[in-house]
Amino acid sequence: MKKILVTGGAGFLGSHLCDRLIADGHDVLCVDNFFTGSKRNVAHLLSHANFELMRHDVTFPLYVEVDQIYNLACPASPVHYQHDPVQTTKTSVHGAINMLGLAKRVKARILQASTSEVYGDPELHPQPESYWGRVNPIGVRSCYDEGKRCAETLFFDYHRQHQMDIKVVRIFNTYGPRMHPNDGRVVSNFIVQALRNEDITIYGDGQQTRSFCYVDDLIEGFVRMMASEQGFTGPINLGNPGEFTMLELAEKVLKMVGSKSKLVFMPLPIDDPKQRQPDISLAGKNLNWSPTVALDDGLKETIAYFKEVLKE
Ligand code: NAD
Ligand code: UDP
Ligand code: UDP
Repeated sequence: MKKILVTGGAGFLGSHLCDRLIADGHDVLCVDNFFTGSKRNVAHLLSHANFELMRHDVTFPLYVEVDQIYNLACPASPVHYQHDPVQTTKTSVHGAINMLGLAKRVKARILQASTSEVYGDPELHPQPESYWGRVNPIGVRSCYDEGKRCAETLFFDYHRQHQMDIKVVRIFNTYGPRMHPNDGRVVSNFIVQALRNEDITIYGDGQQTRSFCYVDDLIEGFVRMMASEQGFTGPINLGNPGEFTMLELAEKVLKMVGSKSKLVFMPLPIDDPKQRQPDISLAGKNLNWSPTVALDDGLKETIAYFKEVLKE
């Protein structure tokens, strides 16, 4: 049994990770400032003897004693991370420095939740970890993309300079239950719109692609990466290589919900990547990991979740 810190633990991915770690018998300290996460996501864990919830902003120092750290704190939806872009950069950069400083002091293994956004709008398809990316350093997405890139830099510099035990995973679009209905990302938007029979908002012509990973697969990848042999740092891609256009996604959701919603076309957000698909051969080789949940099955679970949430 380990004492494990999860930053951003009351968010979408963080709360599923807390569930998994508690189920595996660990002691979990969940730290969150509730910017996009909520107590509700971890309410069912509050009475558990091995679970502790702390309101804290990772841009400030944190002094606790733990064996492992998963650093997930950071808004992930473009709508939310662009709301206060300076805070987004601070969260990625100051947050990484504080969590690395903490890990250094207590000699903890630390995993960073990085992102496929480090590849920007990629010219190489699918994207292997060796690709350096094509990121606009001064655009509206830069606070997130460059913040996450700088966090990766910090992780590798602490590793080289202080021999720290780091793990970096690059997450590709992941969806599932506990996404916030107002999260703003495409899967939750389309499902909520379809369930309410509201217009489905397609940005641009809907021909841009994304690859969608179900949350349970992603969490399994996290845990395997954390348990991987010392010295295997990554970065490693985690995602589902199944690639869909936003129009295909909208049509799937409409059909599965049985909705009367119509498609409406809205302007494409600035610097919106045109295509994205993970090359996951490294995760296959080093973690013996690959996703197992097909998009249709994951959407079914997610639709069932939102049906319940929207009833309230
Ligand atoms: P989310 O918005 O649900 O979760 C982020 C959590 O971090 C929230 O609970 C939020 O309140 C918390 N947080 C934000 N700023 C904080 C701060 N300064 N101090 C403490 N807590 C703070 O999003 P998510 O999808 O669960 O994303 C979790 C992590 O995974 C993020 O780091 C994100 O960048 C990364 N990621 C997610 C995806 C995805 O598709 N879900 C893809 C790539 C990367
Ligand atoms: N830090 C923290 N918790 C700790 C140890 C350090 O939050 O248990 C923070 C501290 O605020 C510091 C940062 O981590 O600014 C980086 O720590 P490091 O030891 O690398 O650098 P230094 O303290 O020398 O600036
Ligand atoms: N998108 C869309 N309608 C929406 C929300 C998003 O068409 O209501 C598009 C968005 O322009 C992007 C893709 O869906 O091309 C994925 O967007 P999301 O915000 O989920 O994540 P991203 O991968 O862009 O960070």
